[in-house]
Amino acid sequence: MSVLVFRTTLPRFEYLRPKSLGEALELKAKYGGDAMILAGGTDLLVDIRMRAKKPKYVIDIKGVKELSELKYVEGRGLEIGSAVTLSEIERSKVVKEKFHVLWDAVRQLADFPLRTRATLAGNIANASPASDSAPALLVLGAEVELSSTRGTRKLPIKKFFKWVKQTYMEPDEMITRIFVPEPPRDSKGMYLKFTRISVEDLSVVGIAGLAANPKEPEKRIVRLAYASVAPTPVLVEEVEEIFKHDKPVKELIREAVEAVKKKTSPITDVRGTAEYRRHLIEFGTAYLLNRLLEVIE
Ligand SMILES: Cc1cc2nc3c(=O)[nH]c(=O)nc-3n(C[C@H](O)[C@H](O)[C@H](O)COP(=O)(O)OP(=O)(O)OC[C@H]3O[C@@H](n4cnc5c(N)ncnc54)[C@H](O)[C@@H]3O)c2cc1C
Repeated sequence: MSVLVFRTTLPRFEYLRPKSLGEALELKAKYGGDAMILAGGTDLLVDIRMRAKKPKYVIDIKGVKELSELKYVEGRGLEIGSAVTLSEIERSKVVKEKFHVLWDAVRQLADFPLRTRATLAGNIANASPASDSAPALLVLGAEVELSSTRGTRKLPIKKFFKWVKQTYMEPDEMITRIFVPEPPRDSKGMYLKFTRISVEDLSVVGIAGLAANPKEPEKRIVRLAYASVAPTPVLVEEVEEIFKHDKPVKELIREAVEAVKKKTSPITDVRGTAEYRRHLIEFGTAYLLNRLLEVIE
């Protein structure tokens, strides 16, 4: 018989609060995998309390000015510092208007009080297959900026996730920014989140969609990405290719659904059975594509 033990105390660790990015990177270089970054702490503190993570050092980056900026440059896109909270993203007019799929995913992530602490970078660094922001960042073609005292590199988000709760970040690296390129002109985006009880719960299945130029096959762009259907968030790259064909849209939607079914491998867990998830993938994909491509209003 398994017994769930709720712990109310945190184990001992050293709490470090750098004032600059340089100082944060020095600490990460010095302590490597023994140190964990604390952004909002909404995942990390739960994991430490449950003894799922046991850092000797916790580096709190909320006070680092260089990481606190949310910037939009016309023609280039968004730069989101890793200390920017989800509620700052939700409040941004430019995110809502131009990066609607990201805004739609963020506003459905947990609840308002949590979003005032939690960050976008923390949501992806945690590498949960149920991350609500990851599918939106995947369809937008975002890049993750990883920094260390050795330098800075940019990784496309589709190459960032390794496995459940694992990423391709090195032990001395941290996320400093997330870049989101300007979406195609007149594109539409939407995040569909299926949950058990309410939107505050993690998704049973989450689907992000982005579509542009639905009526012109050669210019048409359609992208779909998923949460809670595989060990990592998944971008189904075949979908974009399918929608380049000049065929009736209803036929393309059927082909896209088949491609998505092949690329996903849902499991049974506390939030739903594999069979139920397969049903939601099929229904949700067709529904989302119909909405984005205006087959039905
Ligand atoms: C009640 C509750 C409801 C939730 N609901 C949802 C939900 O609906 N959808 C959803 O997707 N998530 C949900 N979550 C999970 C969590 O809130 C999010 O993943 C959140 O975005 C994490 O951000 P944070 O800033 O709090 O991360 P933290 O807890 O600070 O960090 C999370 C992990 O990422 C690492 N990390 C953080 N920042 C960096 C960085 N810059 N560089 C490198 N590593 C870093 C930390 O070391 C840690 O391992 C929920 C959590 C709770 C407690």
